[in-house]
Amino acid sequence: MDVRVRYAPSPTGNQHIGGVRTALINYLFARSQGGTFILRLEDTDRTRYADEYVRNLYDTFAWLGFYWDEGPDVGGPYAPYVQSERFALYQEHAEKLVAMGRAYYCFCGEERLAKLHADAQGEGGDEPSSFGYDRRCRNLDPAEAAARVAAGERAVIRLKIPLEGTTKFHDALLGDIEWRNADVSPDPVLLKSDGFPTYHLANVVDDHLMHITHVMRAQEWISSTPMHILMYEAFGWEPPRFCHLPMVLGQDGSKLSKRHGATSLNEFRKNGYLPEALINYVAHLGCSYEEGREIFSLEELSRLFRIEKLNKASAVFDYAKLEWYNGQYIRMKDDAALAELVLPFLADAGLVGRGEDGMPRPTAEESALVHGAMPLVRERLKFLTDAAPMMRYLFEEPELPAKDEFIPKKLDAARTAELLTLSATLLPGCDLADIHGCEAAFRAAADAAGAKFGDLMMPLRVAVTGSRVSPPLFESIRLIGLKQTLARVERARALLAS
Ligand code: GLU
Repeated sequence: MDVRVRYAPSPTGNQHIGGVRTALINYLFARSQGGTFILRLEDTDRTRYADEYVRNLYDTFAWLGFYWDEGPDVGGPYAPYVQSERFALYQEHAEKLVAMGRAYYCFCGEERLAKLHADAQGEGGDEPSSFGYDRRCRNLDPAEAAARVAAGERAVIRLKIPLEGTTKFHDALLGDIEWRNADVSPDPVLLKSDGFPTYHLANVVDDHLMHITHVMRAQEWISSTPMHILMYEAFGWEPPRFCHLPMVLGQDGSKLSKRHGATSLNEFRKNGYLPEALINYVAHLGCSYEEGREIFSLEELSRLFRIEKLNKASAVFDYAKLEWYNGQYIRMKDDAALAELVLPFLADAGLVGRGEDGMPRPTAEESALVHGAMPLVRERLKFLTDAAPMMRYLFEEPELPAKDEFIPKKLDAARTAELLTLSATLLPGCDLADIHGCEAAFRAAADAAGAKFGDLMMPLRVAVTGSRVSPPLFESIRLIGLKQTLARVERARALLAS
């Protein structure tokens, strides 16, 4: 079978973990089967639509490195299927169902429907809901109804849900599912009176016309599936296979939401996560790949993904685990790649310049510094956002710490100043390319001066980096240069003498 799957987001918000997980599972399934992955914008709900959400979708896909295989004009980026460009098709199909006697025109006004709705205590939704609808127009004479429409009367088209019996379908994860037709929404609207399709109609028509073989979507859609199956039957079409994906929960067992932490991909990106870490972690939410291994590339996941390895139970989102993955992927980057990744964050912090296009444009000197610093910070970065605060002292003289910060335990200001002087005399004679040699020289000098090696190093570290905890010191001094280093030592000495 030629597998064809789709991710069908409604651009009514920014992409979040749940959506990306659905996209990723579909993507991996398609890739694992040599199938086709389709992106379809379900933008039928125009009240909640915004262009920025569409842009966010494209940005997110580009960032994650997902690409779709097919589109209406040309394959590839920026041409997915867009439902608002296909309205005539849905209209045609709804009318076809009316002609087949499987759907009907309904002339009930909004007021009447609102009252039925309220009487049945239904909740207001974004789509016209048939909750509480009494099927009044179901038995109108079709010829008469068609004449009223032809005369310009406003009408919606509703699907005739069988009044008895059950609807069955098989879910790849949840097994056989059977619904009483009496529990399906009473005759849902397919086409609104303005000619716009509802989600249900457009979704089913497109899945059929696009030859979708597997519908893999969030479990919250499962209650719509019986109605969709009935629509396939009404059209005389074979339904695709279904696989409803378990929910993603926060640690407290409720649906993952802002309360638990970042959920939108924008936030993760802004907070310094790598797409690789996010992909790998999200791919592992309720799915296993290969025993005894945690780090996979998108290509490897694509090769190893199997529907049978998906868990039936909900997955719990663990921010700490994602953080761990992030650190792992940062460590796997070589200097050039990591430098490239941290540059935008350094530019945001004003440490490197930007070009006119707003992109980071470091000078040759800044660039050398950034590249040289990568081996120093790589092991320490949990997020790309850690880079700027961690590296600031390499670019500019740090704020002068308080006197006490410089003074090792059991020593005083005068002795600390002496040790700084000793460092200042040692440094010009050190070959900073030879870290072990520098260390040996400092150890020997500390011994000779009757000081601990740590007590000699600590004030120097604070003077140069502004902090007692920093990336490796001699490597830092090498990057900062001797002249600037000695100036920082001098500044510290003056403070201690004051
Ligand atoms: N447009 C629906 C959504 O926003 C798609 C549901 C489906 O995949 O069928 O999630």
